[in-house]
Amino acid sequence: MATQSSLVLNDGRSIPQLGLGVWQVDDAVAPAVVEKALAAGYRMIDSAAGYANERGVGEGIRASGVPRGEIFVTTKLRNDDHGYDSALKAFDASIGKFGFDYLDLYLIHWPVPSKNLYVETWKALIRLREEGRVRSIGVSNFNPDHLRRIVDETGVVPTVNQVELHPRFQQRALRTVHTELNVATQSWSPLGQGTLLSDATIAGIAKKHGKTPAQTIIRWHIDNGLLVIPKSVTPERIVENFQVFDFKLDAEDLDRIAALDSSGGRIGPNPANFG
Ligand code: NAD
Repeated sequence: MATQSSLVLNDGRSIPQLGLGVWQVDDAVAPAVVEKALAAGYRMIDSAAGYANERGVGEGIRASGVPRGEIFVTTKLRNDDHGYDSALKAFDASIGKFGFDYLDLYLIHWPVPSKNLYVETWKALIRLREEGRVRSIGVSNFNPDHLRRIVDETGVVPTVNQVELHPRFQQRALRTVHTELNVATQSWSPLGQGTLLSDATIAGIAKKHGKTPAQTIIRWHIDNGLLVIPKSVTPERIVENFQVFDFKLDAEDLDRIAALDSSGGRIGPNPANFG
């Protein structure tokens, strides 16, 4: 099987393009799920304090036997923990639950504009990176105005903005801003929470390549230069979702999927008024 692909972030660090998302994975189940994923070849895991499974993810990583240094671990700061001191404390709690001495990527989960604390929170993340406790820092669910504000006020550009992104919600305008600022785009709910798997266009393209709909959509993210974190707890699907490095979509496939973008395609909350 072909080797998995990676991207270089704006701080010079490398991140695997494909990782396992663990939202709604129970802490008790997380060790086995993470071990399975690492055995299948995954080297990036996307957790969050709000998923309440950082302990289980850490346990699974240790049990896997894969060296910690080969695995890229992301977690996120909860909306309740915005603010400079609160963010520093929240990071201590997260890293303690994982049982690690550093994390690879720490994200502000949502900007929570109503609190207006995301700049202070970002300053705390900058400090954590300067102290070497986290290697890369980034954000999630930031709109262009939130991104521009933290960059203007601190001079530090996030490495990553993790946002809802799938064929029905392609975020083209936001991705143009990311390109301009040199921010990597990470796609959450990349399979549209499973709703895209029965789409007829996707099914047709999947058949042409002898692949499943899930593999076809994951490959679409990779071929678009995105970071992608599909979630599954089913061992066969965890393996299936990683078998995407032996084919590529062609220009016609990409055009057909581009046409699935829809103004009403958002599934999750709008970051402008969430939290
Ligand atoms: P997803 O798009 O990854 O879809 C997951 C669902 O698709 C699964 O529960 C399963 O039902 C189905 N599925 C997965 N693989 C399949 C396969 N091979 N065959 C058939 N069905 C399959 O949805 P998600 O979990 O919402 O998103 C993925 C990850 O993104 C999360 O686990 C989390 O890490 C991250 N996320 C982040 C945010 C954020 O605010 N930053 C929000 C939502 C999700």
